[in-house]
Amino acid sequence: MTIRKKYCVANFKMNKNRQESIKYIQTLYNSIFNDGFVGNGEKLRMIICPPFHSLDAIDVRSTSDTGIYVGAQNVSHYENGAYTGEISAEMLNRTDYVIIGHSERRNYFNESDDIINKKIEISLNNFLSPIFCIGETFDQRRHHLVEQTLRKQIKIGLKNIKNQIENDDSIDCSDLEIILAYEPVWAIGTGETATSIIIQETHKMIRNILNDIGFDGQKISILYGGSVNRSNAKELISLSDVDGFLIGGASLDLEHFYEIYKFIEESA
Ligand code: PEP
Repeated sequence: MTIRKKYCVANFKMNKNRQESIKYIQTLYNSIFNDGFVGNGEKLRMIICPPFHSLDAIDVRSTSDTGIYVGAQNVSHYENGAYTGEISAEMLNRTDYVIIGHSERRNYFNESDDIINKKIEISLNNFLSPIFCIGETFDQRRHHLVEQTLRKQIKIGLKNIKNQIENDDSIDCSDLEIILAYEPVWAIGTGETATSIIIQETHKMIRNILNDIGFDGQKISILYGGSVNRSNAKELISLSDVDGFLIGGASLDLEHFYEIYKFIEESA
């Protein structure tokens, strides 16, 4: 059986000012040290994704032996230049991870699968590991289009990515990883979580799609996201194909988020 790394990812979205983010991370450290936890991040990682303006304020590189990492919520698909308001992958060089393809970006900012593919490519080139989000709408599920939708998102999103990693001898890719996050659009921020049956079945489907396009689906961590909270996390993390969570609303309250993290830790 392949042992995959587990993750507990906090997506603050457009919430928390710098002071609030700093307070959050300081309290988090205290909780973790009080609990005697000093992880090395090999089995389990916590990734905090605040808005851009707080990224340097909660820089945890120096203490990454705690298993805590920082991620951005977005990155430009352009290298650099006259793109007002954009943040390039190179500018995120003190960040380890980046969320790409979140449904809010797909829906509100018209990000296509091709743009998402460019973002994944540019991130990997700059040593940022993508947390690649995919998911179907309620209508797509109702019309039995889940597999078709996810296959298209994965196929285009990861176009040429495997070759890019494998053929580039000039860089050490050993720390880079691609994490998938299955986030059914109808479950994000709605309080409606997908059932265990749907999640397990869909994660298996995603592994098969990854195999079909030349990746080893068993080796890639797949997170679930969509109204995860302290009441459903224990059951969901027990599913064999769930390798952790991407958490929006419930991550804003540290106590709540930390409780979910403990469930993942117990299962790791
Ligand atoms: C998300 O932001 O990716 C998310 C899953 O949000 P929520 O947990 O609030 O549904």
